[in-house]
Amino acid sequence: MKKLKAKTKSSKPKTGKRKSTSRKPAAQASSSRTAQAKPAGTNPQRVRAILQKLDEAYPDVTCALEHENPFQLLISTILSAQCTDVRVNQVAKTLYVKYPTPKDFAYANPKELEEDIRPTGFFRNKTKSIMGASKKIVDEFGGEVPRTMEQLLTLPGVARKTANVVLGTAFGIASGIVVDTHVMRLSKRLDLSRNTDPKKIERDLMEVIPREKWILFSHQLIWHGRKVCHARKPRCAECNLERICYAKDKTV
Ligand code: SF4
Repeated sequence: MKKLKAKTKSSKPKTGKRKSTSRKPAAQASSSRTAQAKPAGTNPQRVRAILQKLDEAYPDVTCALEHENPFQLLISTILSAQCTDVRVNQVAKTLYVKYPTPKDFAYANPKELEEDIRPTGFFRNKTKSIMGASKKIVDEFGGEVPRTMEQLLTLPGVARKTANVVLGTAFGIASGIVVDTHVMRLSKRLDLSRNTDPKKIERDLMEVIPREKWILFSHQLIWHGRKVCHARKPRCAECNLERICYAKDKTV
């Protein structure tokens, strides 16, 4: 079975220092006076430029969580809360051999499962979520991961972020935009949203990003956040969005 894995080589961002030519749009000054105003950064022309630059740097990135089917992706996404994808992938290697089906997770020994997933942190809560979601999948969805946002949100431990990962990556269904810590940070820096609540950020992004780009755009922002636009010290000199970025904490 084929594993989906991000192509890190091809996703390497274009490098090379450029002279900063960024300017705060005049509209930003007026929009900042009204809290509810649409950010100046969401100007359609600018959004198109951002998408183009992301396509250039990350043409074919996808989810970094290794999986062989939608169910494994669901479980790995639950495990990835407050944990790195690398660590989850390490745990997953043996986890899905020991528990190959939803039934195996649903009727697992909770104490044993806790130990199996302990390295991912928050293992007690994650065990409850994984066993609860698996039971529901077995009892109510015929052992298959459901394919709608509404149904996915009925599973224990599954909120919009996890549901969007599963729908987008496993089924190619664009129901929303994954908003994780990277997407939150970059949406702010790129002035695509001035909200801090993930649901509101997702709503803002869904308004300005064309639906056909929702799935790829999430992955692109996540990869850009991991590789270049770091939380503490963004590598702006290496960023191909630098000319159109006017984040306050830019490093060039
Ligand atoms: S803050 Fe720096 S690294 Fe992040 S998008 Fe702007 S220019 Fe790029």
